[in-house]
Amino acid sequence: MLGSIKGMLVTLVSTFRKPVTDQYPNKPRQVEPRYMGFPALTWDHSVGEPYCTACMVCIRQCPTQCMTATMKDNPLHKEEKSSRRKIVDVFEINLNRCILCGICVEVCNFDAIVMSHEYEHSGYERNGDRVALDGLLEMGTTYQKKTNWVPPSELKKALKDDLALKKATD
Ligand code: SF4
Ligand code: SF4
Repeated sequence: MLGSIKGMLVTLVSTFRKPVTDQYPNKPRQVEPRYMGFPALTWDHSVGEPYCTACMVCIRQCPTQCMTATMKDNPLHKEEKSSRRKIVDVFEINLNRCILCGICVEVCNFDAIVMSHEYEHSGYERNGDRVALDGLLEMGTTYQKKTNWVPPSELKKALKDDLALKKATD
């Protein structure tokens, strides 16, 4: 009898508790800032081109071999508007095969790839989630805007300068 009353009380309390679930897809979940969604390519607004030079480092390190890329000579470099001699021409990620490990982001030396907040890419076709350069840049720029993204190399440099200044004043 006591057990039944306790059970009823638990039910009653749960009925009025604030739900911890969201009504997906009507109300998409707001992800945390550190959330690692699908990888995406970043856009260098100061020059007006992608950061990616298609150097292939991330492609070689990807454990699922789900990325491909080719590079071309950068026309903006010839015009002396960009320091990148080569620039990405074609880039594709098969998001069906991506395991969201973040290795591509870790190994990129050019701030060119991020783990975006994108997580909705389900479809009905096998290999239907192959995303090309335009789509990856769109995902990346959305992420950059949403998070006020600063290139990691700039953050590291600022930190280094701060430490050097602190050392000099100590
Ligand atoms: S994302 Fe980075 S590591 Fe990958 S190809 Fe582009 S520049 Fe190279
Ligand atoms: S997150 Fe991992 S699996 Fe996905 S593209 Fe990057 S390296 Fe490959």
